[in-house]
Amino acid sequence: MPSSHPQCPVCHGPMKKNGTTSNGTQRWRCKTGCGASLTQSNGDAIQAGRFQLFMRWLLNSTSLTQQAREVGRSRATLTRWFNQFWLIRVNAIAAVSDGGKVAQE
Ligand SMILES: [Zn+2]
Repeated sequence: MPSSHPQCPVCHGPMKKNGTTSNGTQRWRCKTGCGASLTQSNGDAIQAGRFQLFMRWLLNSTSLTQQAREVGRSRATLTRWFNQFWLIRVNAIAAVSDGGKVAQE
């Protein structure tokens, strides 16, 4: 699947072009009939890729320097990319610890 075609966030099926928003962002609709639609700007796709990189770095024992070398960027660039994701991570940890509390009851 070409990377310019997003996957349906609901059923993971293929999506087809469905016009554009008023600011020119491509709009997509699920082909398989679940009816989901999404808009995906290039900025979103880039952010998604960086977030995946961030999660991989968090979950592995790879150092930031190693990770940077792997994607051909400097450590400073990755630090800048990742700065915005720390807030999300805090929320994710909160969600996990809430779940843990429920399980103990
Ligand atoms: Zn779908």
